[in-house]
This record gives sequence, structure tokens and C-alpha cells, in this order.
Amino acid sequence: MLNILELQNQLVAEALPSGFEKPQRKLLEALAAPYVDEVFTDTLGNLICHKRGPGKRILFPAHMDVIGLMITFVDQQGYLRFEPVGGHSPAGLIGATVRLESGARGAIWPDASAKVEKGNYGAVDIHDLYIDLGAKSKEEAEKLAPIGSVAVFDAQPSLAAGGCMLTPYADNLSSCIALLIAMEQLKDQPVKNDLYFVFTVQEEVGLRGVKSAAWRVQPHMGIAVDVTATGDTPAQQDYQRMAVSLGKGPTIKIKDGSLLCNPQVKNHLRQAAEQAGITWQDEILLSGGTDAGAVQVSREGVLSGCISIPCRNIHAPGEMVSLKDVENAGRLVAAASLLELK
Ligand SMILES: [Zn+2]
Repeated sequence: MLNILELQNQLVAEALPSGFEKPQRKLLEALAAPYVDEVFTDTLGNLICHKRGPGKRILFPAHMDVIGLMITFVDQQGYLRFEPVGGHSPAGLIGATVRLESGARGAIWPDASAKVEKGNYGAVDIHDLYIDLGAKSKEEAEKLAPIGSVAVFDAQPSLAAGGCMLTPYADNLSSCIALLIAMEQLKDQPVKNDLYFVFTVQEEVGLRGVKSAAWRVQPHMGIAVDVTATGDTPAQQDYQRMAVSLGKGPTIKIKDGSLLCNPQVKNHLRQAAEQAGITWQDEILLSGGTDAGAVQVSREGVLSGCISIPCRNIHAPGEMVSLKDVENAGRLVAAASLLELK
């Protein structure tokens, strides 16, 4: 069995935002290659891992890009301004430490014009924030963080209570781990379906990479793997409005902002879960979308659905997932791969 915390550590160390996935792709290629028949990269940078079977094609996309920041301006004192890559809560960025593409480290703070009243950061605009690298001059900062370079959260994955993992980028590196777990489980097994496990690019900026991957693979069925929000903490907007909890199993999606899951796919996943003895949860994600939404409208249409890993505080440095849920999401991908598509 693969070590989830160790893998998350490796993947987080290589994480960069959408459009900058190359280091992550290299690592995932090395990790996945022993488990499948062929691995290749397409024009946009999706990593396609193919395990041959005689039957119908199933595409399992999990995005390997993460949200981040892109440097737009360096001022005379060497402070950096930035634009978001993917969805950020500006208030949630205050105080976060970041790792620049160059390896430099910095911290994010609001400037004097920011609307921060009596500790209320809710009204802060992302353009009122800056990164302090500790640089002594504009020249020094520009070397470490040129315009157009990118930054990500700088936080180490760690174990929390109750078999949970605290980490940046559970979205979606934990789902990449679930794909690896599935591939490892299937390694020495002949399969009836023709399987494509794809680590996609640019999901966080509008489900872009998976569109070209789905066009190329031409799947009969598409099952994305991503994280989903939960309704089990008072911090979350969806508290007690969403019937998903951490640690109660991977979810089988019914609906999110990008798709209504196809009944045949939901049934395929429920049957696979039952056969493998995996406890799962129903999921209706109240906001946000997944690669599955883009797959379903590829070519003349694809039967689409999604397996999700429950995750608290999505798009923050302190995302939390249950190790058991990650493992069982991987087992569910393997079970869905083995169940023959007629
Ligand atoms: Zn995601």
C-alpha cells in the first residue's frame, strides 16, 4: 500500500499553479509508469496513463494543477503585487507564507489602503495585498520573482487528529494519489475496460486541460476524481446544508456547478462500491465544478460522473482530508475500473 502522507509531501514540494505543471508531471510520470502499459504527455501537458483492456474506454481525470498567485508588479522597495490563478479568498491569504517559483519565500499582508476594520478582513480586496520577500531592493526582488512568475502556499503536509491530514493542495493532489493507489492495485490484473488515468492541467482556471484529453481519448465513460466540500464544520458556508462529512468515505457525485451526473455512471460507481465493500456518501456540491463537467460535453457527449474526497477548507493552506477517504477513493477507482462496461 502506498504511503499517502509521504506521497502528499512529495507532490506538494513540486506543486505549481495552472499552466506551470511540468515539475509535477515529471514526478507523477515516474510514480505512475511502473503500473501501466504506456504513459505520454499531450500538447497542453496532460499526463495520460494507459492500461490496455479489450473493452470500452473509461477516462479517469484528476487535475494536477493547484491554485496560486502570479506576480504582476515589483515596487521600488521590492514588495510584490499579484493576480490570483484560480479561486482565492483574499481574507484567507492574509498571513499566508508562500514559495516562489525561484524557491524564495515570502508572506502576504494587506497594505495601508486595505479595508481592514478592527480585525475584520472580510472586506479586503486581493489587489490590496502584497508579498514581502525580505528583499532589500527592487532589483533583488525582481531576480527572485520576475513579472509572470508564480507562487504557491508554503506549508508542509502533516498528520492531524482522527487519521486526518492537514495540507495545502489536498485539492487536488490527494486525488492524484487516489489514482496512483488505483493503478497500483490494478498493476498485475488483466482488465476488461480500456483504462485512461489522466493527470490534467489547468482545471483551476476553467476545466481547460481535460477538454483536449477527452477529445483525444474519446471515452465511453468519464469519471473525474476531485475533492468536494463538506457540511460538517461551523466555519463553512455550507454548514448543515451539505450532507457530506469528513471520514465517512469517498462520495459519488450527484450534482455540482458543472454537471448533473449521468444515472448510468452513478449506478456503475454504486455497484462497484458495493462489490468492493466500500462505504460511500451521496454528494451534491453546492458551488464549484469539476473536470467531469467538461468531459460530459466533449465530442457528441460522454456519460460522466465523479468520485470525490471530502475536504474541509478547500483553497486554503490548511485543507483537511481523511487518509482513509483518500485510500478508499483509490479503491473505488480500482473497483470502477474492474466493473465491465457493457
Ligand atoms: Zn479541484
